[in-house]
Amino acid sequence: MSKRETLNIESMETILENNDEHIRNIRNLNEAHYTELQHRKKAIIVTYGCQMNEHDSEKLNAMLVDMGYEITKKFDDSDLIIFNTCAVRENAEFKVYGNLGHVKKLKEKKPDLTLAVCGCMMQQPHIVAEIKKKYKYVDLVFGTHNLINFPSLLEATLTGKGQVVEVWDTEGDVIEGMRSNRKKEVKAYVNIMFGCDNFCTYCIVPYTRGRERSRKLEDIVEEIRSLALNGTKEVMLLGQNVNSYGKTLENPADFADLLLAVNAIEGLERIRFMTSHPKDISQKLIETMATADKVCEYLHLPVQAGSNSVLKRMNRRYTREQYLDILERARGLMPELGVTTDIIMGFPGETDEDFAETVDIVKRVGYDSAFTYLYSIRTGTPAAKFEDQVPEDVKHARITELLSILNPMVEEKMHSYEGKSVEILVEDFSKSSKAVLMGRTRNNLTVTFEGDAELIGKLVMVKITKPKKFSLFGEFESVVR
Ligand code: SF4
Repeated sequence: MSKRETLNIESMETILENNDEHIRNIRNLNEAHYTELQHRKKAIIVTYGCQMNEHDSEKLNAMLVDMGYEITKKFDDSDLIIFNTCAVRENAEFKVYGNLGHVKKLKEKKPDLTLAVCGCMMQQPHIVAEIKKKYKYVDLVFGTHNLINFPSLLEATLTGKGQVVEVWDTEGDVIEGMRSNRKKEVKAYVNIMFGCDNFCTYCIVPYTRGRERSRKLEDIVEEIRSLALNGTKEVMLLGQNVNSYGKTLENPADFADLLLAVNAIEGLERIRFMTSHPKDISQKLIETMATADKVCEYLHLPVQAGSNSVLKRMNRRYTREQYLDILERARGLMPELGVTTDIIMGFPGETDEDFAETVDIVKRVGYDSAFTYLYSIRTGTPAAKFEDQVPEDVKHARITELLSILNPMVEEKMHSYEGKSVEILVEDFSKSSKAVLMGRTRNNLTVTFEGDAELIGKLVMVKITKPKKFSLFGEFESVVR
């Protein structure tokens, strides 16, 4: 594993300049392949984990298209397979290892197939050691900080022999100027910051994504302005802890300032953001959310646990009382506020009483939905060494009980929308049918309805006729704009 001192802007710029040459070289290789065999080389990116990873994959996708690859969804078709991995949960890691086993057979049939693995998992030395030892057929391994270097790494892989591994263990400066092929034009992800300084005791992110760094406000605004000019109607501002945006900037600005600057961009209709950390939500931010017309009334606010003693051992740095107070103040100004959360079940030392407090907070808040996870040990985090790990069967029993309380509450909430008219931004066709469109309310509820493709990208009114378990179905009423 190569070590690297923090990269400065100058060396970042040099890498970006050199990337053009590497991209050109790979495109020439791919053109030669096309001339000989009359079919384009194809690439697939499989993405695990959060929206940050999704957005990194969009950047990889843009580079691959520039290199002359056609993007495919089928493994069998591919000449290049990239797994963009996530280290946050054990399950995602198992899936990566399972998929590597699966593609080994493809590689045996098609020796020219190039296999690459990148993302958060690769920032962990024990995982890279495992890949080097047990998965020698993987051609390229690179870490989250090495994304900028992908063209040079891929060229080295395609033209050399043996496994190429490059994982920098320190983050560089914020990189500007990397293009991305965004999946949806109506809605775009925009990174506003990278890394995290919080060190929650269960979380691997500060070790895999590095320390917190914010992009300059003017760079973010410029990116979104150009997205809006190209038809994007909604942006999702991304960061591990968006509420602490700006702490590393020379020109002082906080997250509320950024929201106001983005709110002023012409053509943009909606602004969302994630993820929020309760300890950093200011009254200024709540008031800005309530007054800036494009900022949606939606907050994903991970609670993780309802017990103060568990929160303390998680190093979350807020109490259940403070958490409830934030929501009370926010709902006071935004009665329609949609609230979702993340909950970890079975954190080390979680007692029946602690669990009862989590159930209690779920009942008090009345979430629109919650992502619930069983605690899993992440090597290298403090909680991995905590002695009082909760047995698996207890974790499972608790999650089952929690869901039996949570799901009917969510369903009841959905039913309260029956007969109401809601404004949605139409994003795309639904996954199930080309005759059914899909969009979201300002408070982030998913709505489907029958309609024509020309409505995609428009704000429309839909009357809810059939609430479902976790979404709403309705009838098109009118176009707002
Ligand atoms: S805030 Fe905590 S849970 Fe979120 S990324 Fe940072 S360390 Fe992980």
